[in-house]
Amino acid sequence: MDQAETVRTPASWVVVGLDNGGTCNNATVLDATGQFLVSHLVENPSRVLDGPESAVEQLAAAFTGILELTSTPLSLVRAVGLDTPGPASAHGVISSKGATNFNQVSWHGFDIRGALEARLGLPVIYNNDANAAALYAHHRHFGTAALERSSVSAIVGTGLGGGVVENGKVIRGAAGMAGELGHVQIPLLGVLEADQFVPECNCGFAGDVESIASLTGIKKNLLPYWLKRFPDHPLAGEPVEKAAKLLRGLGEKDDPLALAVFTQQAKAIGKLFTIAANFTDPDAYFLGGGVVEAAPHFRQWFLNTVRENTQLRDEQARAATFALVPDLDMAGARGAAVAALDAVAAGTR
Ligand SMILES: [Zn+2]
Repeated sequence: MDQAETVRTPASWVVVGLDNGGTCNNATVLDATGQFLVSHLVENPSRVLDGPESAVEQLAAAFTGILELTSTPLSLVRAVGLDTPGPASAHGVISSKGATNFNQVSWHGFDIRGALEARLGLPVIYNNDANAAALYAHHRHFGTAALERSSVSAIVGTGLGGGVVENGKVIRGAAGMAGELGHVQIPLLGVLEADQFVPECNCGFAGDVESIASLTGIKKNLLPYWLKRFPDHPLAGEPVEKAAKLLRGLGEKDDPLALAVFTQQAKAIGKLFTIAANFTDPDAYFLGGGVVEAAPHFRQWFLNTVRENTQLRDEQARAATFALVPDLDMAGARGAAVAALDAVAAGTR
C-alpha cells in the first residue's frame, strides 16, 4: 500500500482511536480539525485470550505503531479513545461475569480503560464497540451538523449491537447499558410464521431483536425453522455453524431460504426502528454489520426491507434517513477517536 497517499500531516493536536477486538486491534489518528490521518485499516494482534496484561501491552503497541505510521509526535496527543466489545460499564470495566471476548477470570471486572490510561499516561475515553460504530456513522453522515442531529444504529453481527446518539452524543444510561438494542423485545406478529416457535436470546429474553437479527439468532432459531420448510435445501446437509456463514452468499444469489431468513431479520430490525421512532424519533436510522460487506444489490435490498418494515408517521418519513454504516471495519476505531475528540473539545478531558 502506498502510505504516502493515505497519511496526512497532523494539525495542532490529535487524538488516537483504538478498537479492541477478539483477534485484532485497529488504530487511527484524528486531528483537531476532524480529519482522519489514516484512510485504511491498521491492525495488530489483540491477544485478549492471553489475559488483560498482554492485551493492554498490545493496545499500547497499537498506539505507538499508529503514531509512527502517521509521523505524529507523542506530544501532540491529547487523549485516546478506546472501544471493546461489551458488556462493560460506561467507563470500561468489563462485566463481572466476563464476556465472549474476555472469558478468562482475570478479565472479570477488569478496568481496561483505567489500565490503558495508566499505561499510556494519557486520558482514555471508553465506549463499547457498537456505540463507537454508531457514533462514527452519525458523525460521518451528518458532518458539521452532527451535534444538532440524532440517530439510532443497529449493528448485526454475532449479536445485535446498538447505539443511540442524541445531539451528537452517545446515550450511555445510568449503568452504561443504554442502547442495548439487541435486547429490546419486539412485537412478533408479522415477523414470525404461524408455526414458528418464539426465539430465545442468550440474555434470557424471548423474542428480542437479537434472537432473530444476529448470527446467533440464525443458528439457534431461524435456520432450524426454515430448514424444516426447505428440507431438500443443500444447507440441510451442512453443520449449522457452516450453514449460517454460507447464508449471506446464497442471499446475494436470491436463494429462497436465505431470502426468507434475511427478510425475517429485516422485519425484526424494522420493528425495533418503529419502537425507536416512537421513543427518540431520530433523524437517521443506521444499519451495520456483515450485511454492509455484502454485494451492493443485496445490502440495498436488505436496507429497503428494513425501511418498509419501519412504521413511521408521514412527518417522520419525510424527516428521516435510512443508511448503511460506512467503513465498518474502521468504524470502531474511528468512533472511539470521535468520542475522544469530543471529550477534549468539551474540556471534559
Ligand atoms: Zn437478548
